[in-house]
Parts: sequence; C-alpha cells; structure tokens
Amino acid sequence: MPGPGPGRPGSDPCPGPAWPTGATRLAGVIGDPVRHSLSPAIHNAAFAALGLDWAFLAFPVVAGRAPEALAGAMALGVVGLSVTMPHKAAVLALVDRATPRAAALGAVNTVVRQGEVLMGDNTDGPGLVESLRSDQGFDPDGRRCLVVGAGGAARAVVLALAQAGAAQVVVVNRSRDRAEAAAALAGATGRVGEAADADGVELIVNATPLGMDRSPAVADPLAVPAERLGPGQLVVDLVYHPLVTPLLSAARGRGARTANGLGMLVHQAGHAFRLWTGAEPPLEVMAQAVAASHRDQS
Ligand code: NDP
Repeated sequence: MPGPGPGRPGSDPCPGPAWPTGATRLAGVIGDPVRHSLSPAIHNAAFAALGLDWAFLAFPVVAGRAPEALAGAMALGVVGLSVTMPHKAAVLALVDRATPRAAALGAVNTVVRQGEVLMGDNTDGPGLVESLRSDQGFDPDGRRCLVVGAGGAARAVVLALAQAGAAQVVVVNRSRDRAEAAAALAGATGRVGEAADADGVELIVNATPLGMDRSPAVADPLAVPAERLGPGQLVVDLVYHPLVTPLLSAARGRGARTANGLGMLVHQAGHAFRLWTGAEPPLEVMAQAVAASHRDQS
C-alpha cells in the first residue's frame, strides 16, 4: 500500500509516490449543506495516519438528487459514502441491502460498496455507545437512561442503548407521537416520559438542537431542568457547537459528569472507516483532527 506522499494534507513530506495516485480510492460525504462537515478532516487524517492511499471529499448534493449521486458514485468506483441531511431516509430506499438497524431507523448514514452491491448502515447509535464505553468508561448494560428528542439522532441512540442492554430508555420529546415512535425502538425497555424522570437515571442524552449556537432563540435552552441534574449522572449533549452547552455547564455545576457530541462524531466515523477499509480506525488521530477543525470553525 503506498504511503502518504508529498502534498497530502496533514502528512509530513516524505519519500513516496505523489498523492493522490492513479490507484487512490475515493470516499466522501453527500449532503446539503456539507461545506462545514468535519468528515473530510477526520477521514483524511485517518487515511494518512495508516498510510492508506485513500481520499475523502465532501459532495454537495441537494434534496432529491440522491439517486443520481449514488448512481454516479457507483459508476466512478467510489468505495464508501457518508450520508447526511437531507438524504438519510432517501438513501435507505436506494441501497441494495440495509443492516437491520438502518432498516429499523429508516435512515442510512453510511454506504459501503461491496462489489456491485451497495450496503447501507447507520453508525450513529454504535458511535454513541462506543464513545460512552471507551471515552467515558460507561457501559449502558443494565443502566437507566433518558434521551431527550425523537429525531434521527435520538432514534439511533434509543435503539443502540436498548441493544447495549440498557435497563430502561425513557424518551422525552415535545411531540408525543414522535416520542412514542422513538420509544418503541427500545421494545419493552422503552417508554415515553417527562423531564422529571431524569431523577434517578444514570445517563441523560440531549439529542435536540437546544443549546446549539445559531439555533433559534428559545426561552430555556436546557433540555432537562438544572434541578434534575446531579451526582451519579453522566450527561451527554450531542450538540458540539459550543463544546460546553448550557446543559453541560449546568450539569457540571451540579456535580454530574459530562460529555459533548464530539465523542459520538468520532466513533461513528470510526465505525464507517472500519466498514470501508477493513482497518482499525486510529481513533486518537481522528479525535485530534476533529478537535483541530472544530477550533478552526469556532
Ligand atoms: P432532528 O431534526 O431529526 O430532530 C430534532 C429533535 O429535537 C426533535 O425531536 C425535535 O422535536 C427536537 N427539538 C427541536 N427543536 C426543539 C426545541 N426548540 N425544543 C424542544 N425540542 C426541540 O435532528 P437530529 O436528530 O438529526 O439532530 C439533533 C441534534 O443532534 C442536533 O443538534 C445535531 O447537531 C445533533 N447531532 C449530533 C451528532 C453527533 O455525532 N454528535 C450526530 C447527529 C446529530 P419534535 O419531534 O417535537 O420536532
């Protein structure tokens, strides 16, 4: 496998073939907008670290054009795609095969080319669980969990927590019907609840945009009232702009442990990287790349 050559972003100048080469394998992300996606920084750093002759690009693809994007990627020999808004549901209907979790969620965030077959998966939930285990030392097995939100991210988290053996997964969301649909993903361990249910849970995950920079102003940016937060809880905010949201700040102030959304972002990318390349992702390198890009954007 050729090593990273001169000119490769993030690599040290070293002897080796110029990069990209005629054999460079291409992966990318489709979405709209993708200009500020952190995925190119994460994956290109990982390819360089392992000396893989691969490259990752961001492809702006507007709503409704996923069919052409996938057909074009197939024709051009693109080996892997990340899928982001607004295409996650559309791509599920376009792949040849989907993993059970992508089918259950109705959303694909990772496409893997296997010969002439496109396989769709969803790595968001495993990304969150892997980040809990390896970054926070928190195994969801047997734990009481509460998820705020019922959109794409929340659904992925609810399913993954249930599959990781959580004792209960309470879903809190402003729209009851969506909360019920999300809670159903957790089977017998899932139920719809309210913020007061945060008392006594060991894990709280905010999977709404509350607290995010540039999101519409709301009277209260806390997904869970401060008085419900305290020692014995791990509070995870999937939002990562800013890195310390009002929820995380309140949780820290009241003695809870906290984590922002970069852990899930890195681990879901690591999961996709493993599916595309078959190699173990260099998670430390990926975390450093995401932190550096995040600093540049802030
Ligand atoms: P969706 O639009 O699919 O879902 C948003 C959810 O938030 C819905 O349940 C919605 O409620 C709720 N919500 C939105 N605004 C408010 C509000 N003002 N008050 C209360 N609830 C609200 O978004 P996603 O699930 O894709 O993303 C959710 C968050 O997670 C985003 O901030 C996103 O950036 C982050 N994220 C982070 C990832 C990571 O790797 N760290 C990965 C994916 C997402 P309702 O159902 O009533 O509309």
